[in-house]
This record gives sequence, structure tokens and C-alpha cells, in this order.
Amino acid sequence: MYDLIIIGSGPAGLSAAVYAKRAGLDLLVLEKNPMSGGQILNTYEVDNYLGLPGINGFDMGTAFRKHADKLEISFREGEALEILDRGSYKVVRTEKEELEAASVILAAGAHHALLGVPGEEALSGMGVSYCATCDGAFFRGKTTAVIGGGDVALEDAVYLSGICKKVYLIHRRDELRGAKILQEEVKSKENIEILYSHTVKEIRGEDSVEGVLLEDAKDGSQRELPLDGVFIAVGIHPDSELVQGLAECDPAGYVLAGEDCVTSCPGIFAAGDVRKKPIRQVVTAVADGANAAVSAGSYLAGR
Ligand code: NAP
Repeated sequence: MYDLIIIGSGPAGLSAAVYAKRAGLDLLVLEKNPMSGGQILNTYEVDNYLGLPGINGFDMGTAFRKHADKLEISFREGEALEILDRGSYKVVRTEKEELEAASVILAAGAHHALLGVPGEEALSGMGVSYCATCDGAFFRGKTTAVIGGGDVALEDAVYLSGICKKVYLIHRRDELRGAKILQEEVKSKENIEILYSHTVKEIRGEDSVEGVLLEDAKDGSQRELPLDGVFIAVGIHPDSELVQGLAECDPAGYVLAGEDCVTSCPGIFAAGDVRKKPIRQVVTAVADGANAAVSAGSYLAGR
């Protein structure tokens, strides 16, 4: 029986692990992927983490993991399939085993949303991608589109503009959602064309992407836009299934917990992108990890 199982090894999970280990807790980090770091592994550049301007996401994830390894924190590769609440302890079930702990920190993060149009699924991996930094290099000198208007879409468009001949940024409204500094960067790139108030109705192609069917949201007119690749960046969904029915969540699935990361289920804590909060950034995930570990420590001490 562990004191604590941390589910997820992104910035929130690793930060929680460092704080919990230093507090003397017997803990295990359960990670679904063989590589720690979570979503930042797919981030080309993180430019707003204090003291590390412009750090590559992969390097950041590696540095976080090295910190945990230096403290000899135990990691186990495996996907948590279920959390069973036995009151004074929790059971975390994976495909291979059942692990027991007095407390659990859910730091499972979030995953990309689907656009939900014809052709998306069939052409996924054949010109449809959700990660510009992973797949951008396949489109060198080609024409691509990024769909979305948030931070991720803007970052992706800027990143792709350095690789592709032409990048369309297709956004459903006439105003971008992403940070002003990113908006300015996008607008400064000569090979990025922003198509405001346009929606993609279909992604077309036989064996690979050949184009999209676009609809002008203002007059309803439709036209085909020839493309070699489509990068979808229309938001993220929290990976909170494990605590649905155990801890209260909002309608979008984010776990309801305050800054102390305490959920409505005693002994279960939520940290990072899975928690309902105003800003989802590496720095807030790391802060959550610290808070969740301290809250778990207080919970264990008070039992
Ligand atoms: P987001 O901020 O939720 O933006 C999603 C975008 O996709 C919005 O522009 C939205 O349009 C659009 N969209 C949603 N559903 C759509 C649909 N069905 N069809 C067409 N467009 C659709 O998500 P995100 O960009 O993935 O970012 C996720 C979180 O990570 C955010 O909190 C973001 O701030 C954070 N983040 C921060 C950084 C950074 O600071 N460096 C980098 C990356 C991500 P509307 O605008 O019309 O709603």
C-alpha cells in the first residue's frame, strides 16, 4: 500500500512527485506513455515559463523528469483504467495489476479535441494531424491549413510558416482567441493567410489530404481550398474519466477543485489541466502539483 499514487507524468504529476517525495511520502507515479512530460513534449517552444525563455518542450519535459529521477522517485508504465474508492484507501486498476494507495493525485492532463467533420478520421495520419511540431516536417515546401483560433492554433501556424510554402489559418469567428503577442506574430508572417469567419465542412482526399470544403460563415457560400495538410487545433478535453462518478466535475469534464487541488472525494486530488481553473499553463500545472502534494500530505497526516 502506497501513501500516494500520482496518475500522470506531465508537469503537474512530476511537480507533485517532487514535493511528495521531499515530504517523505511513499509514492508511485503511473505514466501511460514511456516518456514523461505530457503535452509539452509536443510543444516546439515554451516562451512564458519564468527563467527559461524559449525552451524546447521536449527539453523541458526531460529536465523535469531528471529532477524526479535525482530524487529516486518510482515510476511505473501503465494506463490507469479505473479508480475504486474503498474509503480509507483507493485501488488503481491497470491492465496488468491493481495498485493500492491511501491517496491519489489525478494529473492525467488533457487531449486534443476532434473537429468532427467527414474525412477527418479517414485521413488522420494521411495529411490530417493534431501536432504541428510532430508532423510539420512532412510538409516542407507545401501548403497547409491550421484550424482554430486559440494559442495552439496560432503557435502551430507560426511554426508551420517556417516550414511550409503557405499556411492558411482558418477560424470560425472574425476575432482570434489566442494571446495578442501570438496574434501579432501570426500577422507578421507573409506566408500566413488568415481566413476569418470560415468553417471547414469536410476534409477531402483519396489516399491523402487534397483539400477542404470551406464555408463562409457570413454568406453561407462554399468553396474548395486545395491543401497538402490540415492541422487541427480546436481545443482540448480533460482526461478526467477516472474520477467521473467519484469526484464532482463541471459539464465540460474538468474536475472541480480549488487551488488546494482538493476534490469532493476525500483522498483524491486533481492537479494540472484536468482541474477546472482559469489558466492552463506549464507554470500553473507545476503550481498545482505542489499544492496537490501538500494537500495529500495533510490528508494523510489527518487520517
Ligand atoms: P482553446 O484556447 O480552447 O482554442 C480552441 C480554438 O478552436 C478556439 O479558437 C475555438 O473557436 C476553436 N474551435 C473550437 N471548436 C471548434 C470547431 N468545432 N470548429 C472550429 N473551430 C473550433 O484551445 P487551445 O488553443 O488548444 O489551447 C488550450 C489551452 O492551452 C488554452 O487554455 C491555452 O491558453 C493553453 N495554451 C497556452 C499556450 C501558451 O501560453 N504558450 C500554448 C498552448 C496552449 P472560438 O474562439 O470561436 O471558441
